[in-house]
Amino acid sequence: MKKGKVYLVGAGPGDPGLLTTKARDILARADVIVYDRLIARQILQELPKHIVKIYVGKRSGTHPIPGQDAIPRILVTNAEKGKLVVRLKGGDPFLFGRGGEEAQKLREAGVDFEIVPGITSALAVPAYAGIPVTHRKYASSVAIVTGHEDPKKSERVDWKKLATAVDTIIVLMGVGNLQSILKSLVEGGCNTETPVAIVERGTTKRQRVTVGTIRTMTAQAVERKMKPPAVIIVGDVVKLQKELSWFKT
Ligand code: SAH
Repeated sequence: MKKGKVYLVGAGPGDPGLLTTKARDILARADVIVYDRLIARQILQELPKHIVKIYVGKRSGTHPIPGQDAIPRILVTNAEKGKLVVRLKGGDPFLFGRGGEEAQKLREAGVDFEIVPGITSALAVPAYAGIPVTHRKYASSVAIVTGHEDPKKSERVDWKKLATAVDTIIVLMGVGNLQSILKSLVEGGCNTETPVAIVERGTTKRQRVTVGTIRTMTAQAVERKMKPPAVIIVGDVVKLQKELSWFKT
């Protein structure tokens, strides 16, 4: 029997043009695609009809969805049937997407896999908002952190240390904890006038950019009813946003 294989593929941040050519080629050859929320609808719509598409994201209306543990099982079962399986994830599969855990499960089960990196929202979303994450005048270091830590995990983001350790801080999944994140950064030594930008639904036709400071952003988030998915950018590079804004929605 043909040996199956799983490709852990990054789909990019939203704009379908940001899918890599390697990802596009593998998608076209797939038997089964297992995908999350935040995958551009257009990418899925353009695929050949015979490909089996399995949605495993959170929130799927009234339909029951398989839990996190079930995902590796779906991948393994299909690969063992000899299928070419694509596990399609938003952005890059190894950045906050549990790609590492899924790859470990595949290895454990003895299933062949390949990783196809994707364009991450952490860098592309600021870029589409006109914010370079580094700049010779403003920032020579950048950190990408999660704003939605698993409270059961002992190792947590040390916001206070982070505050002075890097020039640009990029927070994913941070909208829900915005107030406490900004508070911890100030406690760690960030000036309250440090520029902050929040980019919702970046790289898509519904992109919305809000610029302010650590002091003003919590109120702005409430006023603008901000919702995920959003990337938070903290640091002086945000000062360039007005000058470099280019993406028209
Ligand atoms: N692996 C993904 C990140 C998964 S975590 C990547 O590399 O992009 C999901 C988080 O990514 C969201 O909560 C949000 O913070 C961010 N995100 C993904 N797509 C986004 C988009 N189009 N606009 C803004 N933020 C986005």
